[in-house]
Amino acid sequence: MSLLSIQDLKAGYGLIEVLHGISLEVHEGEIVAVIGANGAGKTTMLMTVSGCVPVRSGSIHFNGASITKQATCKLVQMGIAHAPEGRKIFPRLTVLENLQMGAFTRKDNQITSDLQKMYQYFPILEERKHQLGGTLSGGQQQMLAIARALMSRPKLLILDEPSLGLAPMIVKQILEVIRELNKTGMNGEVGKGMSVLLVEQNAHHALEISHRGYVMESGRITLSGPSQDLLKDKRVQEAYLGFE
Ligand code: ATP
Repeated sequence: MSLLSIQDLKAGYGLIEVLHGISLEVHEGEIVAVIGANGAGKTTMLMTVSGCVPVRSGSIHFNGASITKQATCKLVQMGIAHAPEGRKIFPRLTVLENLQMGAFTRKDNQITSDLQKMYQYFPILEERKHQLGGTLSGGQQQMLAIARALMSRPKLLILDEPSLGLAPMIVKQILEVIRELNKTGMNGEVGKGMSVLLVEQNAHHALEISHRGYVMESGRITLSGPSQDLLKDKRVQEAYLGFE
């Protein structure tokens, strides 16, 4: 079943149209990757799904309901969480306060146990829980941005460039957490995994971890399919995987 469905989406900034009619689906339980060069419009698409950039035409549905004009805070309540490009954690709040902010729409009593889960995924966050977010390293801030998004217990986790500028060991750790969440969700139940929409410039990472992928060029989807097929596609290999 389709969890996120984007149809013929157009959006942009001021006089500039960046997305010229994007269609994309994320099914329940999938990791979907969007790859593309700098400036292709990947971040703009994610920001449009999250309600931060207005839709000019086309539609976005989540879990069967239209979210084309939905406010961001409502989207969080509906089950969409976005870890934005460049981390954008709250630098003057502590790690713990950042994580608590991620749960601000929740009214259940599992917030404390979810905090413990975040510390299991990313033990360094527990060690640094009383430290200000802005004093963390880039990799630690990325972990915090993902963990903060997870604290809303999303059905769909949106990740923008989670590997950007990070050391290979940290990237590996983050990818493993994403894989685990996709398999079993936050309750550790097989078959109840979280769906993920992932934007990455590192096409290797993105296609290796995802089930399906889309290639975006200048605001248009030019290719899509199972990630294993895209990894073998000559055009993808030449343009994004560094093959000669
Ligand atoms: P990157 O990987 O560099 O973030 P991207 O594929 O995510 O690339 P976008 O960040 O969505 O691409 O940018 C698409 C286009 O929109 C670019 O030409 C960019 O300059 C422009 N753009 C992005 N944000 C804004 C903004 N706030 N105001 C005006 N133009 C913008």
